[in-house]
Order: sequence, then structure tokens, then C-alpha cells
Amino acid sequence: MAADDGADPREELRALVGQLRTNLSLRQRSGLQGVPKKPSVRKPVSAPAAAAAPVAASVVAAPPAEVPEGEGGRPAGAKGLALVREDLGDCQRCKLAPLRTKLVFGVGNPNAHLVFVGEAPGADEDAQGEPFVGKAGQLLTKMIEAMGYAREDVYICNILKCRPPGNRNPEPDEVASCEPFLKKQLGAIRPRMIVALGKFAVQCLLRDDSPISRLRGNLRTYEGIPLMPTFHPAYLLRDPSKKKLAWDDLKAVNAALAQVGISPPRPPAA
Ligand code: URA
Repeated sequence: MAADDGADPREELRALVGQLRTNLSLRQRSGLQGVPKKPSVRKPVSAPAAAAAPVAASVVAAPPAEVPEGEGGRPAGAKGLALVREDLGDCQRCKLAPLRTKLVFGVGNPNAHLVFVGEAPGADEDAQGEPFVGKAGQLLTKMIEAMGYAREDVYICNILKCRPPGNRNPEPDEVASCEPFLKKQLGAIRPRMIVALGKFAVQCLLRDDSPISRLRGNLRTYEGIPLMPTFHPAYLLRDPSKKKLAWDDLKAVNAALAQVGISPPRPPAA
């Protein structure tokens, strides 16, 4: 998996202009209507709302218009995901297929409000067929639990479903083959928020090569779904001093969801 890098001052102006453009388009798209009148039809609020964070309610309130319910005539939720899995089959669409032990589709609640997207399976995930089960996965589980969720409450997946050899970065043809299935999964789950983990996943999903240090903490959208970029747990294991920033990002996610009536099933850590 890729290592997150530090800030490059030359990117600063480009990143700021990009963020401004995104914010303007989000505001236009949302019409600045704020919190929708209709409450969420999914799991009810059961924990105190997180503290307000500097994210616009209108961003999260905007419906995921580009990933409609039953996308492509498919049902949503578990049935929709099962159809995506069936469609994927014994995938041989890219050069990673012959190298894999197990295809790593995704795990968790098919109706999750919150989806975590990483880069690609590593050795442990390839062996077990489940995303984020190695050391980085254990830290991700702790991060999810600190937010007040269990792994089973959210959905966890990757951009790639097969392990790149030696954990090298995914290559463009591999992303081109695999990303349509991520989009279909999101079309079935219809989450209210995506948390993108690490430089590769964030830059790939956002089509933005700004440094992760600039992208993290700023709400964007992917396929019409609000997306919070943050550091990859593997990077946090290498540089624990960045854990506080990642926690700030996750608190901002909870706060943004709380603004539209979605709270975790348990109280988040302080
Ligand atoms: N790193 C990732 O990006 N995904 C996994 O599933 C495991 C480690």
C-alpha cells in the first residue's frame, strides 16, 4: 500500500483553488437548503450528537443524486450487493486475478450510512478474503469503535478487490477494471458518507493529486456522496503523531452525520 506523504508548498495554491471549486459546486448542488425535513429512514439516533465541526450540513444533506437507489435497475441493500458480487463472479478482468488467493469484496452492513474505502487488500486480506484484517485493519477497527460504531455497523471495502504483488500501488488499468464495481457497491449501499483512507484511495477517488496532508479533513464528494479524506491506518502505525489529525477527521464525520440526524449506536470516545 502507498505511504502518505507530506505537504509540498508548490501544491498549496492548486489545492486551495481546487477546494474552492469543490465548495462552490457543493453549495450550488445543495442549493444551501440545509438539513432535510424528512428524517433518516435507517437506524435511529441513539447516542448524543457529536460536537459541531466546520463542515456544511448542506454537504451531507445533499442526496446522493448520482448514485440513485436501485441503480441500473438493481435493488439496494443486501440484495443489491449480492447481485454486484454475482456480476463480479470469478473476476479475471485484470492482471491481478491470477495472483490472488481470495478476492476481497467488502464486509459489513449492506445498508450502512458510513463506508470506509481503502486502497487494496494486503497479504492478510488476500489470505482471508476480508478487508482490513491485518495490523492496519486492527487500527481501523479501533478508529471505527472510537466513533461509536462496530465494524458490523459500517461497510468496509477497497478500490481494488485483489492484492497487487508486494503491496505495490494499484495501476491505472487495475483501477479501471475494479472501480466500476466499487461504484455499484455504493449504488446498492447508498451511504451518507464515505471515509477514504490514505493517499492512494483519496487521490484516486477524487481524481486529485494534491498531497494527502492537504486533502485530509476537507469534505468532498464521490459519485454524489460526501467523502471525507483521512490518513490510512497503516500510515498512522508508522507515524502515530498523525493520529490526532485522523481523529479530528472522524469527529468531523460524526458531526456532519449528526447534522442530518445520523448518530452512532454507541457514544463516541471523547
Ligand atoms: N490496506 C488497505 O488499503 N486495504 C486493506 O484491506 C488492508 C490494508
